[in-house]
Amino acid sequence: MSELQIEDLLGPLDFDPDALKQKYLQERDKRVRQEGNEQYVEVTAEFSHYKDDPYVEPGFSREPLFDTVEVAIIGGGFGGLLAGARMKEAGFTDVRMIEQAGDFGGTWYWNRYPGAMCDVESYCYLPLLEEMGYIPKHKYSFAPEIYQHSQNIAKHYDLYKNACLQTSVKDLAWDEETGYWTIKTNRGDEMKARYVLMANGPLNRPKLPGIPGINDFKGHTFHTSRWDYDYTGGDSTGNLTGLKDKKVGIIGTGATAVQCIPALGASSKQLFVFQRTPSSIDVRNNSETDPQWKASLEPGWQKARRENFNVLVSGGDQDVDLVGDGWTEIMRELTGIAAKTASKKLGRRLTKAERGQLMELADYKKMNQVRARAEQIVNDPETAEALKPYYRQFCKRPCFHDEYLDTYNLPNVKLVDTHGQGVERITEKGVVVDGVEYELDCLVFATGFEVGTSYTRRAGYDIKGIDSTLSDYWSDGLRTMHGTQTHGFPNCFFLGFTQTAVTVNVPQALDEQAQHIAYVLDQVRNQGKHVVEVTAEAEQAYVDEIKRLDVSGTRFYRECTPGYYNNEGQERSDNGFFTGMYGGGSIRFFEVLENWRKQGEMKGLDVR
Ligand code: NDP
Repeated sequence: MSELQIEDLLGPLDFDPDALKQKYLQERDKRVRQEGNEQYVEVTAEFSHYKDDPYVEPGFSREPLFDTVEVAIIGGGFGGLLAGARMKEAGFTDVRMIEQAGDFGGTWYWNRYPGAMCDVESYCYLPLLEEMGYIPKHKYSFAPEIYQHSQNIAKHYDLYKNACLQTSVKDLAWDEETGYWTIKTNRGDEMKARYVLMANGPLNRPKLPGIPGINDFKGHTFHTSRWDYDYTGGDSTGNLTGLKDKKVGIIGTGATAVQCIPALGASSKQLFVFQRTPSSIDVRNNSETDPQWKASLEPGWQKARRENFNVLVSGGDQDVDLVGDGWTEIMRELTGIAAKTASKKLGRRLTKAERGQLMELADYKKMNQVRARAEQIVNDPETAEALKPYYRQFCKRPCFHDEYLDTYNLPNVKLVDTHGQGVERITEKGVVVDGVEYELDCLVFATGFEVGTSYTRRAGYDIKGIDSTLSDYWSDGLRTMHGTQTHGFPNCFFLGFTQTAVTVNVPQALDEQAQHIAYVLDQVRNQGKHVVEVTAEAEQAYVDEIKRLDVSGTRFYRECTPGYYNNEGQERSDNGFFTGMYGGGSIRFFEVLENWRKQGEMKGLDVR
């Protein structure tokens, strides 16, 4: 494409794309660390208190269980709740939920930090809205409402009955002779289950940065996913009165920090934000649910809305954009629709290279807008500059917030930019950056969750199948069919990011998986059988397909600033977030599942 054509397609370019690209690469190079994921410390041993549950009364105990259930579901977040709901709908009544937390909700149980909310539209995000007859209060729901909705789902589908809360699975072993799983837990249970469904969640273990001296700090510390309201006062709406005379530091400026920093800024005597990489902060524009719109909804509305959203955020075209928010806008500009509009204007299809070039330029334009927003809102030019993200939009999770940037205009809030290097050291008194010690009373870790580690490490237990453990079987990468089943592990099903497709609206993907698993088990039951296992051949064919469609090692991610999306900028890994995902996209993936079900042959499964 000539320059003229590009300008025709995108409007005038008021920047130098080559210079910007160089700047992105420089910023990336500053951040890549040889240690990759090893820069983080596991929350075990002296760090294990960081994952203690602050929301339950201490001292819970119960008698161990030695009984048998038909279906055991491990994990009570959205994956587990959807699996429970769909199993109940399919007529399975003997269902036991096992959850380490004190209640259902998963990420919405743990993440109660002030300002926590979901930045995907609630009408698409909250599961089972029509089944529950519920409409969220806002376009973007706040965390307490989502947590409450999780509990309501559990009540509606009678999932509290027989549930084991505050219970962590420690061991899971298949007995080929009896055709049952034995589940051992930290409560001394040794129960049996015909089927186990694992919905452990992808981001369930908090991680801490391996900063020298991390254990030396004598002040108060906690991780955002275990917010200590006893110390800070207030609640998820803010008003953290306990901090009014405190000097507070927060490490991290990812999606979580962006949501809680406004509350910390409003309540602390002094707030220091220690930043390694700024997030992209676009417009939020939340609003209360319109009662007229609510009254106008017809049956089937949620499915239709979700599908409309998913097509748009997957680069497809729709006559109408029902959600019309920052997600659909960026995707419209950065994905296939932009290419489609361009090829219409050109009167021919774009070549792959042209398409890539167009996307890259559209991305620069979008990120220029995001950077300009920081400059418009933040008064201090140096702070504004430090808050500008120099990487492509989907290198990190895009954030949307209308108070985050303004927080830096408060006199008590200081951004301590580490220029991509991270915090240098933690001392007894505080945090050191560039040789300067910032004395603190409280240090909050908004440093995210384990991603690039093995599935079994994140689950917290291994799984013993017919003749191998899952950690051994997956030691060279995930092996499944449809992301739900693995050869050698009969009657065991996975939900989540195990060779499935990534979507912006994660609960939609979980629901597709839950419905798929319910279908499979319904078929097994209808055949009067009790054991279902994917064949080695079917699994291999699916693994080959995953490899063929792999996008994790593409130039896009190689050139990205480090983060969990690109395995911290390291060369390929079998455990990276996108490694082993279904690269054909969610729409195709859902079709694969649906077409397989339509065939009605249980192809690739050995039912016995
Ligand atoms: P992230 O992993 O996204 O962020 C961790 C932060 O810690 C980054 O800013 C990282 O910097 C920083 N960090 C790590 N080590 C150091 C160090 N040594 N010194 C200084 N800074 C450091 O975790 P989050 O909890 O923010 O988000 C995790 C995920 O949770 C999101 O990606 C999203 O999927 C989900 N989420 C969703 C929300 C929603 O609305 N639906 C809301 C909140 C979270 P760097 O970037 O340089 O690595």
